[in-house]
This record gives sequence, C-alpha cells and structure tokens, in this order.
Amino acid sequence: METHLADFVRHAEAGREAEDILRKCVHCGFCTATCPTYQLFGDELDGPRGRIYLIKQVLEGVQPTEKTRLHLDRCLTCRSCETTCPSGVRYGRLLDIGREIVAAKLPRTGVDAVMRKALKSLLPRPGLFGPAMKLGQAFRPLLPAALKAKVPAPQTAGSWPTTSHPRRMLALAGCVQPAMLPAINVATARVLDKLGISLIEDPKAGCCGAVRHHLDDVEGGRDDARRNIDAWWPYIETGCEAIVVTASGCGVHVKDYGHLLKDDQRYAARAERVAALARDVSEVVAAENGRLAALLGVSPRLTFPVRIAFHSPCTLQHGQKLGGVAESLLSRAGFELTPVADGHLCCGSAGTYSVLQAEIAGRLRENKLAALGAGRPDVIASANVGCITHLQEASGVPVRHWVELIDERLRGAA
Ligand code: SF4
Ligand code: SF4
Repeated sequence: METHLADFVRHAEAGREAEDILRKCVHCGFCTATCPTYQLFGDELDGPRGRIYLIKQVLEGVQPTEKTRLHLDRCLTCRSCETTCPSGVRYGRLLDIGREIVAAKLPRTGVDAVMRKALKSLLPRPGLFGPAMKLGQAFRPLLPAALKAKVPAPQTAGSWPTTSHPRRMLALAGCVQPAMLPAINVATARVLDKLGISLIEDPKAGCCGAVRHHLDDVEGGRDDARRNIDAWWPYIETGCEAIVVTASGCGVHVKDYGHLLKDDQRYAARAERVAALARDVSEVVAAENGRLAALLGVSPRLTFPVRIAFHSPCTLQHGQKLGGVAESLLSRAGFELTPVADGHLCCGSAGTYSVLQAEIAGRLRENKLAALGAGRPDVIASANVGCITHLQEASGVPVRHWVELIDERLRGAA
C-alpha cells in the first residue's frame, strides 16, 4: 500500500515502522473473514483492512475524527487478522502506532476519558485493587447483578511449595490475577515443583504494563516494564532460567519488552534479555515432556472421564503463536477435549475491552459460550485471567486455568 507520510511523522521511527508495515498490505481482504468485529458489524471499517486504511489516512495528515476513533476502539487487538494475513502485515503494531497518534491529535473527553483514567489508576495497582476486590467479595451477595458478575467468589489458593530446587524460575504475579484468581500461580508452582523447578514471585514486580499501554498511556506501561526488570534482574544474574507467565495477555506483553524499551539506553539490553526469558507456562511444562510423562504414569488415574472445552486466548494463539500446546498437555493428562467451532475467534474479554465495549464483548461471549458448550463439557479451560473471568460471568459450566487441572491431576484430585 503506497503511503505518503505527513511531515509530523515522516522522520519519526514510528512513522518509518508504520510505512514498512503498510507497504506489505496488498488489500486482499483475506483478514476480514476472520475478524470478530467484521463478523458482527459487516462494515469494512470494523475489519482490519478498513482500520488499516483509517490509520494510513491519519499518518498522511488527515485529522482523525470521533468516527475514526470509534472504529479503532472497536478493535479487540485480538490479532486474528495477523494469523490469517498471507503477507505478514503486523497489524497489531500498526494499530498501536495509529492509536497513539489519534490519542495525541484528538484527546478523549467526558465519560470515556474518566473511565480510562479510573481503570488505569486502579487495575495496575495490586495495593488498591486487592483491597477493593476483597471488599467487593465481602459484600458480593448485596451487589447489583451487573457488578456481582464482575466479582468472582473468593478462591482458596492452597499452599506454595517450600522445597528448594537447583533449577529456579521467576513468576509474574501480575496486577488483578492475585486478587481475583490466586490459585493459578500456586497451582503452577506445585506443578513446576513436581518437575524439579522452584518458582519464585518477587513482590516488587507487578503489572506487566499492558493495562496502561492499551489505555493510551504507553510511557506509563514502559515504567511498569522498567520496575519489573529491576525486580527480576538480581534473580536473572544469579541463574533464574525463565520468567513464567500464566496470563497469556501479560505473556505477549513481556515478550515485547525488548521492542518497547529499545530506545532506552539504560534498559534496552536488559529488556531484550527479559523478553527472551519470558515463557508461557505451557511452554515450560511442555519442555519437561519426559518428566511429566513419568509423573502422569504414577499419578492416580482419573476416576471418571472429564470433558474439557478449551478456549485458546487470542494472546496465546495469535499473539504468542502457541495454539495447541496446552490442549496437547491436557490430552496427555487423560482429559477428553471436546470440539470447539471457530476456535480462532475472541471471547470479547480483550483486557479492558469487556468494560469499555461491554455490549460488543457480551455478544462475542454469547457466541463463544455457545461454541464451547456444544460438546457438553464438564469444565471450560483457558489460559488468561481476563478470558476466564469474562466467560465465567455468563457460564453455568466452571471456567478454570488449564494448569489448575494438571495440578489436580498430578495430585490425584481430578
Ligand atoms: S485485531 Fe482482531 S478485531 Fe482487530 S482488526 Fe484484527 S481481527 Fe479484527
Ligand atoms: S490479509 Fe494482509 S495483505 Fe490482505 S488486506 Fe488483510 S492485512 Fe492487507
């Protein structure tokens, strides 16, 4: 796609990067077929090709309007279009650049601005979000239905193993996950312990930075990344093998730290190293293939068939290209996976999208739950705190992180 960049961006790195991405797009439109919002609205501007065109206009100097923003805001950043695109167009990166320019040229106002400010002030701060969630859980029965659905019932996390192994890995605790679903990282620590790896959470690390990054505060997101790098660096210097991430939305962001901080002289090299060490928990468990098989061989067998419908988060299958890995671990553990139609489509969670675009998110969830429920599963499994809580809000079937099921299987509790 030929582009004539406007003066304000022509000599900027982001402009050059955007131009390179745009040049690859050949307008074929294959991507529209797998775009969840295009499927809902049938409007070219609510599909990737139309959004690419809108971003191109802005880069060429056209003043963005509320209509431009509406179509960019409706994008889930699911990156299904990237998986489909035969030309390798990095749509997600182009969208980041486009959104940043639109936010600067057309500042948000009113309720939209207030909502975003509130979300980015509350969510990335476990010290604020944790007590707020506890309060919500204490008064859960009294909450209005809409709010009650957003507050999961309190979870018992169980205990973190205390055995010390020569092999050590770091875990990202994240921001909302410890308050909403604390059992996920504890289950991960138990599974890795059985595989001979100690998992360490450092309390100085926190939100990966994705929340602020996607709420028009790219610099705030970089600050989160810098804080995490500072917290993790002493462990990395003393031999920690990997940074394990159990929320695929955070994983895709940590794997991008090298790019996010490439212009920061103090952090660029360390950010690159941290990004290279980041692993989704499925990668870590799958790499211990032999040991896992031995453990499964001596674990008590499942006492009855457990049917699982797996929802692969967009950040896992499109962002990290890890579709199929967790599913294969579940199968090897003896669980029966039910078929799920349109597995490439987003469930509507998409970070803060389910709050900011609640109506669209609700429609996508309805479709997703129908697809997941078709095989009559006992459990729905996924790999991201956002997807799990979003689906659970409207699901009669329990929704769990897949690693909790592996943990239960290894403990003979499944
Ligand atoms: S990221 Fe997802 S919602 Fe956005 S244009 Fe691509 S496929 Fe559509
Ligand atoms: S599939 Fe790729 S090349 Fe074709 S229109 Fe979409 S982004 Fe452009």
